Amino acid sequence: MQRDTIIPESRDTAFRDLIIRSPGGEKLLTCMQCGICAGSCPVSHEMDYTPRQLVRMIQLGLKKEVLNSNTIWICTDCFSCSVRCPRGIYPTELMETLKPIAMKEGIRNRNAKFDNVFADVVKKNGRASEFLLISKYSISEPGMIKQAPFGLALISKGKLPLSIDKMEDARELEAIFRIGEKTGEEAKVKKETVPEKPENVNEEEVTEK
Ligand code: SF4
Ligand code: SF4
Repeated sequence: MQRDTIIPESRDTAFRDLIIRSPGGEKLLTCMQCGICAGSCPVSHEMDYTPRQLVRMIQLGLKKEVLNSNTIWICTDCFSCSVRCPRGIYPTELMETLKPIAMKEGIRNRNAKFDNVFADVVKKNGRASEFLLISKYSISEPGMIKQAPFGLALISKGKLPLSIDKMEDARELEAIFRIGEKTGEEAKVKKETVPEKPENVNEEEVTEK
């Protein structure tokens, strides 16, 4: 995908330093832009900027551009990038660090509607029913009406089953959701408290090309 050249309004080194002090960012300045993270990412084609580009943008202190990109919300936390990075950088952790910072700045996930519908369907049924997903999302997203003929064609050909497959006993799943929600809240609080000094950081390794 062709992307516009970024012309930064300003470079925020305090933002960069905050991320370096956060989990996963300790070795951020050693990134050599090899692109292994981007090549490993299953959803990079949907992102404004690949993980590689995001790391470089953080190095340059492009706070506004980083926080407003959809990359941090599109990431599925699959860890492919983190396990493969030859420099021990954890882009997955960086995404989780950036989300609460963006939210504090009043920036919201542009894809939140679909994510919420997906979580709601799975929570109630224990399965991701395609029919429920599409119908519920269509109610919350008026633009989806354009897809109605396609949806009807799928139903008529038996490609979109109307029956809803439910989990027999959803109690364990509900418990998992409860733990996830609690952990999310705790993580938010934890990420607001970061160590004062970065460790293992060599600022001279950052070169602006
Ligand atoms: S894999 Fe690691 S070193 Fe390579 S571009 Fe990604 S973050 Fe940088
Ligand atoms: S953790 Fe996120 S950024 Fe990394 S490969 Fe998976 S989806 Fe992509």
